[in-house]
Amino acid sequence: MKLALFGGTFDPIHRGHLAIARAAADRFQLGRVYFVPADLPPHKLNRELTGFHHRFAMLALATADDERLVPSLLDSNTGQPNYSVHTVRRLKSTLRKSDNLYFLIGIDAFMEISTWYHPVELLAECDFIVASRPGHSLAELGEALPEALRPSSAVLKALRKQEASGTIALPSTTIHLLGDVNERISSTQIRAAARKSVKQLSRFVPELVAGYIKKQHLYMAKSPQREKAGAGNSKVLSFRGASHRS
Ligand code: ATP
Ligand code: MG
Repeated sequence: MKLALFGGTFDPIHRGHLAIARAAADRFQLGRVYFVPADLPPHKLNRELTGFHHRFAMLALATADDERLVPSLLDSNTGQPNYSVHTVRRLKSTLRKSDNLYFLIGIDAFMEISTWYHPVELLAECDFIVASRPGHSLAELGEALPEALRPSSAVLKALRKQEASGTIALPSTTIHLLGDVNERISSTQIRAAARKSVKQLSRFVPELVAGYIKKQHLYMAKSPQREKAGAGNSKVLSFRGASHRS
């Protein structure tokens, strides 16, 4: 089976995430897209994150109606920052020989890949599907690669003319560009919008997720649900941080 690993903080999951997962599944005939929320995202340890259990619950609600989209606990409770190269290897160790894994990622995250933990090794683990996002040109992709893999400037120049749905074939990996999704939306915007009013949330997130955000009072100015990432991991999983106020 062809499948994809889609990592993120998903705080919260939104229509943009779902659109790129569905577009990737359609285009590459993926039987599964595993949504893997990071428990301890290395790049976001300084900002407050919503408890893992809430982010996972929202993922489960958002993906319930599509058999191909599956929430995963692969990165939960690992006790250490979730480095993608480890997550990919953990997933691969559970797959069959005939399975074919892709790493699904948005272009804004891919632009930072050189700063990730062991990026060359990560890129060598599987092929990538990079989804476009407003504000980024797909030609920037080649330039964002770790130096060891970066194509020559002549090739980079040629890439600038390549259409959005093209492919960059490198010796160790192939990067497929998914250019037909253009959702102008981010979790940051949604958290900011929810702080002001929870009324319009279903424009950005599925109805069930909007209902969950309201019910659990997530993202409000003084929400009791937000916890410092990295602090009290067991607190999140044991629900001690959860409020039962209605
Ligand atoms: P935040 O604003 O908190 O960073 P986000 O909307 O970027 O949230 P993440 O959980 O950080 O969501 O992203 C998970 C993955 O989804 C990343 O690979 C990111 O690039 C991708 N992604 C998120 N939103 C979009 C979008 N609108 N279009 C394409 N890719 C997206
Ligand atoms: Mg992000």
